[in-house]
Amino acid sequence: MEGLSQLIDRAAKDILSSRKTIAFTGAGISVESGIPDFRSADGLWSRYDPDEYAHISAFRANPEKVWRMLKEMMELTLGAEPNPAHRALAELEEMGLLSSVITQNVDGLHQRAGSKNVIEFHGTNDYLVCIRCGWRRESKDLSFDEIPPRCEKCGFILKPDVVFFGEPIPPEAQRRAFEEARTCDVVLVIGTSAVVFPAGEIPIVAKRRGAKVVEINKESTVLTGSISDYLLQGKAGEILPRIVEKVREGMH
Ligand code: NAD
Repeated sequence: MEGLSQLIDRAAKDILSSRKTIAFTGAGISVESGIPDFRSADGLWSRYDPDEYAHISAFRANPEKVWRMLKEMMELTLGAEPNPAHRALAELEEMGLLSSVITQNVDGLHQRAGSKNVIEFHGTNDYLVCIRCGWRRESKDLSFDEIPPRCEKCGFILKPDVVFFGEPIPPEAQRRAFEEARTCDVVLVIGTSAVVFPAGEIPIVAKRRGAKVVEINKESTVLTGSISDYLLQGKAGEILPRIVEKVREGMH
């Protein structure tokens, strides 16, 4: 069996020989920036059940209650800094070796790390949108004094411009993401349990079209051993910079 160092070499070679590589990321890539994923034992989500707080019908029924959780989540994401994993992906793009990052995250950390072609599959916490008239504003100067915050145009309720369970994926993000999945020949699947759909179909579609699926995760997932060609097990913030270092060595 190959050890982690051999697998890092293998991932670097796969990226170097690939015509088009993409990354598909989830909450795990931002854990080292201090934003908990759904599964960490003492995180946000052990106090707020996602089924109870992350569905659009829960938001519509009781926006004040859901906004108490959103306020905590937004304060975390707006204050967070990108970590070495986000920066490694930005470097790969800069080197001309990464076509896009498709992210399920709403924290904006890929862009803050310097990634340019980011497809936000589940929207972003960086904006708020009125659920009645569609008016949008930036989140960064929101005071959180009044919960829920109100639309300046029509007075109705604002929500972060993220996709709640029960809401459709933004059509343009969905179209671009699946186009990338169909046309890549390597997909790096990083820090996602890959159980939220339709996002979870992205590595499956890539695989069906003949792409290599390279997983980077602290644990094995539903993809491991079936859809994934191999798993690099460990922290994304440690593994991705090592892959990029090997890629650089291989370029000379
Ligand atoms: P998830 O919580 O279901 O899975 C996270 C995965 O990351 C797990 O498989 C875990 O083993 C792995 N992981 C944890 N720490 C890691 C690390 N340091 N390095 C590598 N892997 C690590 O998350 P998901 O699959 O993204 O699905 C949850 C949904 O909730 C998504 O829609 C996501 O956008 C949303 N969410 C977003 C954020 C964010 O924007 N940062 C945070 C929480 C949840």
